[in-house]
Amino acid sequence: MTDLSLFAWQRRISMSLFIAAGVSFMAGVSVPLIPLVNQRTVTTETGLEQQQQSEPNILEITPLIEQQQHAYQQLIAKLPLQTEKELTFSVPDQFQGKTVYKVGFSNKDKIIALTFDDGPWPKTTNEVLYILKKHNIKATFFVLGTNVKNYSGRLKQIVEHGHAIGNHSWSHPYTYQNPSAAALEIDRTEDLLYKTSGVKTSLFRPPGGFLNNGLAAYARKTNHAVVLWSSDSRDYYASEQKLLNNVLKQAQSGGIILLHDGGGDRSETVRALPKLITELKQRGYKFVTVPELLEIAADTK
Ligand SMILES: [Zn+2]
Repeated sequence: MTDLSLFAWQRRISMSLFIAAGVSFMAGVSVPLIPLVNQRTVTTETGLEQQQQSEPNILEITPLIEQQQHAYQQLIAKLPLQTEKELTFSVPDQFQGKTVYKVGFSNKDKIIALTFDDGPWPKTTNEVLYILKKHNIKATFFVLGTNVKNYSGRLKQIVEHGHAIGNHSWSHPYTYQNPSAAALEIDRTEDLLYKTSGVKTSLFRPPGGFLNNGLAAYARKTNHAVVLWSSDSRDYYASEQKLLNNVLKQAQSGGIILLHDGGGDRSETVRALPKLITELKQRGYKFVTVPELLEIAADTK
């Protein structure tokens, strides 16, 4: 069984989900928002053509979604583990089920954690990895399931470089997710992370930092640490100099810095990163991963 055939399978099932999600959205039901453009291109191979063309009834669609979600999870469960190494990013008891913006600790050292969201991503993830390696720094990457599926090789590179991995959901939804949709967003990503890289993680970062759309609640219930940030670069729209200023004015020991390596053009982030690291080093900061940050906080309290 080759990867390619598996992913072709996955694509078909996910396309079906996309269609069902789009149809449900039109019917006013909250499910992950997926571009409806997929409807036209894949109807013939999904068997959903009838459902679409005949003004679908939501009561008929809902079991269909659940059926397909189940099929997707079964499919991931059947994927062969693509690595022999297992790697667990756990969090100390006191942070399980909690939301973390930064940590306090009694150590005199200044420590700070760089985090990168929305990858793995073509080009910029590699550029970030290169810069981090050059400066001998470990960071934490909050990855999306969809991008792990599309760029699994890059995920493996992040792991091989020794960085920590957190779950950032499957499809980055901002809208309300009911409990089963929220579970799917988190569990499906976790399953694929494990299958592709042997990674298990108890770190979760909700898309957009939203704590009230169902995802964070599920993450807390399942003993993840919900990891936010104390220093937002705003690199999703800020220029190099502006994002540097944003981070530096909020930098503090025990803090967590939000950056992005994926999800769009991150060239400003890549340009700013060496300067950011150099400046923080000059201010006396040591860089740690989020699991390390939480461990240090737990040990020194
Ligand atoms: Zn994000």
